[in-house]
Amino acid sequence: MNETSAPPEYNRINLDYRKPIPRPKVRGKVIDFHTHLLSARHAPDWFAAADHFGIDVFASMLQLEEVLSLHRDYGHRLIYIAVPSWYQTPADPVDDYLRRIDGFYNLGSRIVKFHCAPETMFRRGWSLDSPRLKPVFDEVVARGMGIMTHVGDPDTWYQGKYADTAKYGTREQHYAAWEIVLQQYPDVPWIGAHMGGHPEDLDHLRRILDRYPNVSLDCSATKWIARCLSAQRDAAREFMIEYQDRIIFGSDQVSGDTRGYDFYASRFWVQRKMWETAYIGESPIFDADCPPDAQPTLRGLALPDDVLQKLYHDNAVRYLKSVGVATGWLD
Ligand SMILES: [Zn+2]
Repeated sequence: MNETSAPPEYNRINLDYRKPIPRPKVRGKVIDFHTHLLSARHAPDWFAAADHFGIDVFASMLQLEEVLSLHRDYGHRLIYIAVPSWYQTPADPVDDYLRRIDGFYNLGSRIVKFHCAPETMFRRGWSLDSPRLKPVFDEVVARGMGIMTHVGDPDTWYQGKYADTAKYGTREQHYAAWEIVLQQYPDVPWIGAHMGGHPEDLDHLRRILDRYPNVSLDCSATKWIARCLSAQRDAAREFMIEYQDRIIFGSDQVSGDTRGYDFYASRFWVQRKMWETAYIGESPIFDADCPPDAQPTLRGLALPDDVLQKLYHDNAVRYLKSVGVATGWLD
């Protein structure tokens, strides 16, 4: 083939993302519980793609300063997850975190995100069990809010950019820190983002879910999850069915100034193929964690309808109820 330019990262196989597709077979709103719609200026393309793929409501992690402009036009489709400032290292990051939690809470947010991926822990100088974060956990508990944690990262990153364990610690240490706070706060409704950060090892996830009944997982991070679940397709399908009450749909879609309809559509396309169909074939998304000539094959799990109902709707609604959010608008 004589190509003059490489296909875009979000469409290696030249799909038409405007081709009609039926909505997921779900009663009530389809809820994507892990996203980063970062700004109102990204919303028109984002919601155009979401409407096309039948995804109605998004839990978004974005900066507090950006919420108001989004809320005016899109508040009826958004749930906010409280996050700290990303853009500076505040003089007292914990105080700033607490002020932001207060601001998010006043806007209706009932979930606080703790981002403790290896890189973030190194940059912020804390881990989940650090005494510095204790006031934040205590505030979450006092307000009756829920928690989402990002612990871990892909195995490929542990073998690559985190290979310096003196600097980043080990995966075992990162999960030990998570378990310390899980034991301190056993009653907080808790979401382990990105399949608990360890989709490579379903038995590890089983141990976490069996030991901590307050924990759910979100299945977000399209490339990472698609790669890992496809690689163990039958075991992953069994796992999703076994823990069908504990897994909440999420894409980890991230908006951006250079991202448009087709980029957002690519993530929704892969998500829906992965959960709803028995598709076996190329993913339209380039996976930078694999060599160009060894891209992973996408293998759909073809989950049963009643499992999809829980994944796309019921489990998110139950979680929101458990942290005191009124959910009638999601019916
Ligand atoms: Zn995320």
